[in-house]
Amino acid sequence: MFAQLPEQRMHWIRWGLTVGWLLIIASLFYDPWTSALTTSDHPWSPLRLPDACIQVQGKCLSEQPYPLGTTLFWGTIVPAAIFILLVFGHELWRRICPLSFLSQIPRALGWQRQFKREHKKTGKVRYELAKVDPNSWLGRNYTYVQFGWLFGGLCGRILFFNADRLVLAIWLLFTITAAIFVGYWYGGKSWCQYFCPMAPVQSIYSEPGGLLSSKAHMSEQPITQSMCRTLLPDGKEQSTCVACQHPCIDIDAERTYWQSLNQPETSFLRYGYVGLVIGYFSYYYLYAGNWNYYFSGAWLRQTNQIASLFDPGLYLFGQAIHIPKLIAVPLVLGGCTAIGYWGGQWMEKHAKAYSRRKQANLTIETLRHRLFTLCTFGIFNFFFIFGGRPLVQLLPWSVQYLYDLGLVTLSTLWLYKTWRRSPDLYSRENLANRFRKQLEKLQLDVSQFLEGRSLSDLNTHEVYILAKVLPGFTREKRHQAYKGVVREALEEGYVNYSSSLDILQQMRQELGITDDEHRIVLEELGIEDPELLNPDRKRSLENQIRLSGYRKSLERLMLLQRKQSDRTTFEQLSFQDSAAVHSLRRQYSITSQEEEWILSGFSDNASSVKKVEFLLAQLPELIDCYRALNQPMLQQHQAVLTLLRENIRHKKELIVRSILENLTLLQSDPTAFTVVQSLQQASPAILGEILEQENWGDRIPPAILQYLTQPGETPVSCSLEFSSQAILDHLEALLQDQNPMIQAAALYIITQLDTKRSQEIARNHRHKFSSRLVQETIDLLLSPPLTSTANPSLSEFPTLEKLVYLFNSDFFHRMQSETLIALADQAEVKTYSQGEVITEAGDTCRELLLLIEGDARIHYQTGSKVRVEQLHPGQTLDELEVLTHSNSENTIVADSESTRILALSVDAFDDLLDHDPDFARRVLELESRQLQRFVRSVQPL
Ligand code: SF4
Repeated sequence: MFAQLPEQRMHWIRWGLTVGWLLIIASLFYDPWTSALTTSDHPWSPLRLPDACIQVQGKCLSEQPYPLGTTLFWGTIVPAAIFILLVFGHELWRRICPLSFLSQIPRALGWQRQFKREHKKTGKVRYELAKVDPNSWLGRNYTYVQFGWLFGGLCGRILFFNADRLVLAIWLLFTITAAIFVGYWYGGKSWCQYFCPMAPVQSIYSEPGGLLSSKAHMSEQPITQSMCRTLLPDGKEQSTCVACQHPCIDIDAERTYWQSLNQPETSFLRYGYVGLVIGYFSYYYLYAGNWNYYFSGAWLRQTNQIASLFDPGLYLFGQAIHIPKLIAVPLVLGGCTAIGYWGGQWMEKHAKAYSRRKQANLTIETLRHRLFTLCTFGIFNFFFIFGGRPLVQLLPWSVQYLYDLGLVTLSTLWLYKTWRRSPDLYSRENLANRFRKQLEKLQLDVSQFLEGRSLSDLNTHEVYILAKVLPGFTREKRHQAYKGVVREALEEGYVNYSSSLDILQQMRQELGITDDEHRIVLEELGIEDPELLNPDRKRSLENQIRLSGYRKSLERLMLLQRKQSDRTTFEQLSFQDSAAVHSLRRQYSITSQEEEWILSGFSDNASSVKKVEFLLAQLPELIDCYRALNQPMLQQHQAVLTLLRENIRHKKELIVRSILENLTLLQSDPTAFTVVQSLQQASPAILGEILEQENWGDRIPPAILQYLTQPGETPVSCSLEFSSQAILDHLEALLQDQNPMIQAAALYIITQLDTKRSQEIARNHRHKFSSRLVQETIDLLLSPPLTSTANPSLSEFPTLEKLVYLFNSDFFHRMQSETLIALADQAEVKTYSQGEVITEAGDTCRELLLLIEGDARIHYQTGSKVRVEQLHPGQTLDELEVLTHSNSENTIVADSESTRILALSVDAFDDLLDHDPDFARRVLELESRQLQRFVRSVQPL
């Protein structure tokens, strides 16, 4: 709700609140006026001192008129903060918090600690903003630091500054100085993120979200909930995020919540806080021996607070316990915190056991989330039994009643809203929103389905339903949209290469996208932008926002300079070294690599050339690998090698297509000719095929197209002198492929070349392979019969063997690996000897048969004649009859000693057709092609 409030307005509100707060602090030093309101004989003031005796440890307190600074601070500001956090969320609190505002003074003045960085090659010097290293002690333990400070602050309140104005003022000024110093020492909002004692309180009440807070993961603007934003002269807002923390509560509180849910410090914080708050309020009773001391607010006006440090700290059953208050306070608060923490752990354990007993199947995340939610709901209401009560009690009964009712109602609504949240729901909403954006990019005509609503009005469920019914949302578009989602999710670090399969699973189900298609998308993305899949590059939403903030600032600067001069392009603008750019670089902590990347994005051509250069650089390695797999020493493993070679060929095709895409962007740029030349040299055959099969004519300028289609230089002839070690190196590189079929096939060929090496890989690296197929191959490799065999044959790896034959068959060629693995699981190898009947005319077709070894004859009965046709390995038998569930019309006989057939039952085939729409589509395509061929063959010439 408040995330959308214009920064300009918030800026003035912040100023107002900060000035108000500073005035309260000033009043703690000097306030000769407000004490008049508290004199016992004041005619109308509700704050006048009561005549009744307030007992502390059995004695009446003597009270004097007092200035109202402490009453105002503890009685209104602190409870108001808790209320705002739960109801409006941190997105309001962070934007108005005076302390957070003051911590940004060094940033506003440009006084921030920086590190000097010198480029090793160019010697160029640049300065980077200092940030807390997430791996440093502070980066790992800041939750405990903040909680420790909160604990110290609460003890300090009871002992020193609940009522002592001077000490409170010093404490507040010390905190402000610390915040400003941290603002100088570390960039961004490091004070709020790593030090502020209010931060744990903020997480507890405003994560996963306040009652009225917005959903950052569904926000259209990248600034989302953050207050790290600035106002541009044209009134627009821009992020000033420097990625000081990941994940950042300011950017998306709910994401931060789910990401930290399972961390031990989160349980400590959540459960410990409950104990701490209970301990804090209970201490007033334990100290005074009655509740009246707290509710009368006498503790706010005991100006001799420090004098009582060594008085008895506890008063139980009418007896003072002689433990000094100085020790009793941390003892009680610390004990309660520990009880709170252990109590929480105990509840969690029992909740888990209960859920298991009742077979509720709740995940540990859901259980924890619900316990945390109950804790926050409980402690919020407990807090407001006490918080601000000394002042609320002065109001009429009816107002007090409404106040209580309002708090319980709001917190119950919060409980209702929060209880239903789950990481899964968050993920679904997040992904649906990304998908919605991709749908928007496709510019499909959706108006007829939405009855006046827009895409952004649709909920998660509706977006996917729409995708299912949209007529123009073809298979290609679905692929394109899914690819867009994966790209964005990878860019933001929401998923990485390995986690993407799991995290996007639900979305794939909704869209009918198979795991294999997902792998293809990753493969394409990896080829288009390999940095996306680079595991060493730490990506995060915060970094994305930081870089886009810098980029936008640069754009603005360029625009301003253009207005001042006639210069038109970035290259001509000589502001690269200007103070403004230097300051921007520092402000956003931009490294030289990042700057290079951002600048290349300014010129489409420059970034296309870079991409193309990268793509071209990948081709030689692939070509080399392809050649390695063509070496004579591997000849007897052709079937397996075809699988590997096809994979490499597919990659080459992707690269060539991606280069052609970039040529469409470069158009007639002079570099395009150089690119074409390199492409022709690197991969003339595939280039020729793609240009022949696909229509690039209307996208690539004629001159370039002509240049592309000219015969290039003769490629360097294929070297036949690969050593077995060189082949092994290439095969080991293929083990890194994500396709399990490729991994298993590569492992098999390694076994043929060097059995010991493959067993070593199997033993030492099996944990790197997650697929069942590879695990099965490894198990067989390490099992006794094979450990002693030098070159085990393919038939000793049954699943791999079935897969290889399926892949090489006419019918299943190039099908997605997931489908092939499913088929292989269901298929069975049958062996026939020469002359044996495989199927007889009139038999019901119960199996789809694939000839994998040997020969067979088909006897066609045409009228009174019998026509005989020879079948060869790789051909399927009776596939039309299988599809139509009819009887076999021909007799098939084995025609060689040991004829081997792969048999797939009709039921398994039908099952796959039902559950795998992609497979069904492929089968339909294949059959249509077979029919076309057949029709053509019988047509008279
Ligand atoms: S990560 Fe960015 S948005 Fe979050 S507090 Fe730091 S600077 Fe602000």
